[in-house]
Amino acid sequence: MQIFNTLTRKKEEFVPLRDGEVSMYVCGPTVYNLIHIGNARPMIVFDTARRYMEHKGYAVNYVSNFTDVDDKIIKKANEEGIDAAEVAERYIAECRKDMEGLNVRPATVHPRATQEIDGMIDMIRTLIDKGHAYVAQDGTVYFKTRSFKDYGKLSHKNLDDLRSGERSLLVSGEEQKQDPLDFVLWKPKKEGEPYWESPWCDGRPGWHIECSVMSRKYLGEQIDIHAGGEDLIFPHHENEIAQSEAANGKEFARYWMHNAFLNIDNKKMSKSAGNFFTVRDISEKYDLQVLRFFMLSAHYRSPLNFSAELMEAAKNGLDRIVSCVGNLNFLLDKAADKEMSAEEQKLVEEAAGYVAKFDEAMDDDINTADAISVIFELVKFTNTNVTDNAGKAFLQALKDEIVMLADICGLIVDKKEEILDADIEALIQERQEARKARNFARADEIRDMLAVQGIILEDTREGVKWKRA
Ligand code: AMP
Ligand code: ZN
Repeated sequence: MQIFNTLTRKKEEFVPLRDGEVSMYVCGPTVYNLIHIGNARPMIVFDTARRYMEHKGYAVNYVSNFTDVDDKIIKKANEEGIDAAEVAERYIAECRKDMEGLNVRPATVHPRATQEIDGMIDMIRTLIDKGHAYVAQDGTVYFKTRSFKDYGKLSHKNLDDLRSGERSLLVSGEEQKQDPLDFVLWKPKKEGEPYWESPWCDGRPGWHIECSVMSRKYLGEQIDIHAGGEDLIFPHHENEIAQSEAANGKEFARYWMHNAFLNIDNKKMSKSAGNFFTVRDISEKYDLQVLRFFMLSAHYRSPLNFSAELMEAAKNGLDRIVSCVGNLNFLLDKAADKEMSAEEQKLVEEAAGYVAKFDEAMDDDINTADAISVIFELVKFTNTNVTDNAGKAFLQALKDEIVMLADICGLIVDKKEEILDADIEALIQERQEARKARNFARADEIRDMLAVQGIILEDTREGVKWKRA
């Protein structure tokens, strides 16, 4: 498997530190609001990478944090007159609901910054002892950026380039920094803010230190993959590397993966410009599977544009796969329990070629755009080669293959188990239209398809009513 490594700016063969195991850390959201659709992109693409690596046989240890103390959380808490912890708790719960809707599996561990303060104090102490950090007069602890000679290796900036921009790095109150490039590890408390005791002052950690600490605690000093959105490359991930490598004395992450940004109608998503959607907003109009499918229809390193038309296209695309599996379920229900014919066996062998092609796309830096095209090819192949008198074994083999590939993408395409109300309504609507167009064959087919799923239709004077059998 090849992975594009931001560190080397090249696709590299993925070789894990330990045979058959992958340790992966993905920077998670700051929980002060419902997550927006931009936040959903790293969740979906790296969940898919995880699923694919598991499909390849790796045991994946996947850690993703919740940043539960930060200026925005505190501001929201003060506005509402409640504790910052309460705000964080609320939005962690909401985030988990959205993740479930998006079929993003929970991480192996979801550490929270506020529960890891001791570890942060330990690492900061080590950095001070090793001469990589210092304490200013008011108790603020800074990382001494120039003490880490590899600073800039991830973002491919050098310290001299950064110097030219250093004026803007000097914000008021930070004159006490020895160098404008230094960044905060620990800062003193302010009125009305949560704080913890530390050897330097009562206060709270800077943002970057939490990931260095949680990654080490749950995955070890050195990890295989560190990931997040591309805005995190600088300064967040650059600072994480400086802290971790200075403290541990060894390379931090082997591969750095970054997703490109999601824009809306070709513009940067922004609340003030009114082009801003939460995942919850989208769930009012679409099954969140459609949003997942939409995100995966582009490669994770390509910028992705979100628009109403593109979401409709995604819905239609996903529907094609779901209908194909629905049709297979329908045929399976009445198919004869017979051995595969020679012809069917040949077709199943041919179908296996699509799995190889899917793997090839995913092995190429998790190219989900190409992988989804392969699923479409397999759907087309299935629709072309399945007939009314196909045998059970044959139908099942094709269905298993489509469902397996979709499942690697985290897409639920077998609705036999859990057909949703919205899907039923959509099929009923389609049946009405078929009847209007005097396409009674299709209308009857839909009725039968629904019957297989245990949905009974009743034509009444007020229209079509349905119930679950
Ligand atoms: P934040 O809560 O801002 O720290 O963001 C959580 C994750 O979402 C990070 O990995 C960000 O890089 C990512 N992210 C934020 N906005 C976008 C966007 N518009 N497109 C893609 N990823 C984003
Ligand atoms: Zn992080």
